[in-house]
Amino acid sequence: MARRKYVVGNWKMNGTTTALAEARAIFAAAGEHPGVDVALCPPFTLIGAMAGAVPGAAVGGQDCHSAASGAFTGSVAADMLVDAGASLVIVGHSERREGCGESDADVRAKAEAALAAGLSVILCVGEPRTVREAGGAIDYVLAQIAGSVPDDFAADRLAIAYEPIWAIGTGLVPTVADVAAMHGAIRGALAARFGDAAQAMRLLYGGSVNGDNAAELLGAGDVDGALVGGASLTAAKFVPIVAAAAALG
Ligand code: PEP
Repeated sequence: MARRKYVVGNWKMNGTTTALAEARAIFAAAGEHPGVDVALCPPFTLIGAMAGAVPGAAVGGQDCHSAASGAFTGSVAADMLVDAGASLVIVGHSERREGCGESDADVRAKAEAALAAGLSVILCVGEPRTVREAGGAIDYVLAQIAGSVPDDFAADRLAIAYEPIWAIGTGLVPTVADVAAMHGAIRGALAARFGDAAQAMRLLYGGSVNGDNAAELLGAGDVDGALVGGASLTAAKFVPIVAAAAALG
């Protein structure tokens, strides 16, 4: 099954309204590559402004709460993201799993809430360095998949982002063979659970992707795109990644 390439920028805790010009430049340049789906996930505070500044652009959140409303100071519900103009959300990023103690069950509940609100989901998984070095990366990630991917969803509305924790923001990347092996294992696990629908789910690689390594990493088996942190903050760094995805078709 042909899956469209998907390149998503995670701005993390970066960006104020002065960064909207960069978002405009990114989406304008991405428009030159109509075969690639491009999205940006800015901080909550910028979602409405970015969606307004670039009509039709795919703008997303970086997290949501699993509850619809309530006494959760500082949190944002999935419906609120939709109301602000978001069409997608990242859940289970390692900076939240590790930094905020989110469990697989928490991530699954967030994904379910997001899907129920009409958002598409990018669900992150990935192993720490010690696990990779001990040879347990695939088992670790497949356990995350088993625990955090919901049971019931339209396959084209949930993408998995494999992001080895040791590769995020470090400049380190796995070998292409390791990426292909992990993505193949993830696809296999999804196929065992969801049957043919797994062929419609997109699997992104994330971790120190840049314009120089994008073609190689996105060309690995079963890689349908990238989740990009640091290199998504400027058009100059992000657009070459989109172009690499476009070249791979
Ligand atoms: C990320 O945090 O999702 C990420 C992939 O970051 P970076 O590209 O900076 O490694």
